[in-house]
Amino acid sequence: MTQAQHGGWIPVRKDFVDLDTRCHARGATGRHHGFPDGRAYILRDAQGHEYPFGEACARTAVLHPDHLAQVPDYTERDVVRQAEAFDAAIAMASRRRPSAAQREAEQCAAAIRYLVLRMEKVAAVPRVQPTVRFAPLQDVYEHFQRTGDLSRAQVTRILAIEKSPTTPPRLKAINLLDVYTAHVKLERLIAASNRLDNIRFLRGLHDWLARQLVLSAAQIAAAGIEMHPQAFSSPGIWGADDTRPGESGQLF
Ligand SMILES: [Zn+2]
Repeated sequence: MTQAQHGGWIPVRKDFVDLDTRCHARGATGRHHGFPDGRAYILRDAQGHEYPFGEACARTAVLHPDHLAQVPDYTERDVVRQAEAFDAAIAMASRRRPSAAQREAEQCAAAIRYLVLRMEKVAAVPRVQPTVRFAPLQDVYEHFQRTGDLSRAQVTRILAIEKSPTTPPRLKAINLLDVYTAHVKLERLIAASNRLDNIRFLRGLHDWLARQLVLSAAQIAAAGIEMHPQAFSSPGIWGADDTRPGESGQLF
């Protein structure tokens, strides 16, 4: 699904971008818009370089705008505005039964997302828990880096690893997305802060997140980051009884 399309732009992923990032599509007047919500579509050109685009600009640039909905979305667990959530619910409800090809594309995107979260995005978080990078996925990750694509068999294998009961709950896809999202938000806050005590506090939370792969509701509130309402509440991630520490004043 990521082969070159007649030399045009290839949709690669939806991802977080730095807040000073500008859309690659420029109007005749010069500078183009930024990304106030810190999320962009990443498109690849014929030379293999990747650039950020806003949704409307991405739709104009690609040959098949429908394919934008099929890219791995690393921002899915960000907070969404009420209106966006409503639109998404309507779109979901009005969607016809997915065709076999659509289902296959969705599975491929899910597999790429899990592979890249484990082997690259969360694995690259400083001082992260070493269990994130998973040796049995190394060969398929290298194949993906070379070709930008996965075979059916590789998709099946990656999804089976994600679902496997031997994969700890904190290493499942949704929790890794929450970790990646919280990491991006904490890094943004640290970069924007000029108070040393605050930076130290946020770094402490970030280190905890890297080691534990979870944040409690109290930690999220203390950090002042906005997260998905169900962030870090996947089944099993808080242990056998699944009590999520939250309302107590305990931060660590
Ligand atoms: Zn744009």
